[in-house]
Amino acid sequence: MVVMTPTASEAEIEAVVRRLEAAGVHAKVMPGELTTAIGAIGDPEGVRALALEGMAGVDQVIPISRPYKLASSELSHHEPTLVRVDGRVVGGNETFCLIAGPCTVESREQTLAVARAVKEAGASMLRGGAFKPRTSPFSFQGLGQPALEILREAREATGLPVVSELTDAAHAEAMAEVVDVIQVGARNMQNYGLLEVVGKLGKPVLLKRGLSSTVDELLMAADYILKEGNGDVILCERGIRTFETATRFTLDLGAVPYLKLHTHLPVIVDPSHASGDRRLVEPLSRAAAAVGADGIIVEVAVDPEAALCDGPQQLHAGDFQRFADSVAGHASLVGRVLA
Ligand code: PEP
Ligand code: MN
Repeated sequence: MVVMTPTASEAEIEAVVRRLEAAGVHAKVMPGELTTAIGAIGDPEGVRALALEGMAGVDQVIPISRPYKLASSELSHHEPTLVRVDGRVVGGNETFCLIAGPCTVESREQTLAVARAVKEAGASMLRGGAFKPRTSPFSFQGLGQPALEILREAREATGLPVVSELTDAAHAEAMAEVVDVIQVGARNMQNYGLLEVVGKLGKPVLLKRGLSSTVDELLMAADYILKEGNGDVILCERGIRTFETATRFTLDLGAVPYLKLHTHLPVIVDPSHASGDRRLVEPLSRAAAAVGADGIIVEVAVDPEAALCDGPQQLHAGDFQRFADSVAGHASLVGRVLA
């Protein structure tokens, strides 16, 4: 939408229309009481490249269409995308996916014990970090390849599909051999090269919202994966940086119904990293179900106090059955079953 200044002349309006039409953009002049607006109907990038702001009589150029394309439900009139992972369904409005497991694979025993506990309680998938994106290079970085072998064993022992984070394109092939859902972490949401790599891997992707990213930026990041021909993208709200420091991040629950309106992709919530405090994880998980999330991803440990990473937010495995039942109860209130 090109808004002219109140003093713009007919000749100036005409000049804008001619420039748009010369670029193949349909122009519709809409005279108002004070100012005239010109609707430019065409590729928004093409319109931006015309630099209409610099023309005489132009006040503002306001993009109206959404900047994301493939992730948008408006542009493609897409039915909700159902991401199928080994018989589980993420997306649509009938199922609720419960992804649970340790923050990080620390040992074979620890991982297998958590995997068995969450499987027993009805979890849909197992999470566990092999390569960890740590804020400090001096923090534990994950076991790497040996962790992938442990995840493979946990998968075989429980039958649970595995979700794990890819932090470096160099590990893509090794991860794809073991992992059922490739996670792109918050810190890599705008690592466009990595997004294109996972777009080509042919595995479902769990894309987490960046720490300081808008929802529209999340959707544009999803477009990077979708444009490679991989339609199996699950979005994850995991809390953002705000002025509030009481919780580790601020869980943006409003993003969930917003995303459900504007994209066809499934949306899940990570209350563990958002809150940083296990006491908040259950109420936030129930809230996620209530606002229409397609699932949650939560951290669970047998002995969280001894965990090398994110101990305070990990649920106790011994309490996980009760937790899962409570969240499943809330999901059922909005017509969803654990799957
Ligand atoms: C994680 O899920 O292991 C993780 C590091 O989360 P985030 O990328 O959201 O910080
Ligand atoms: Mn963690």
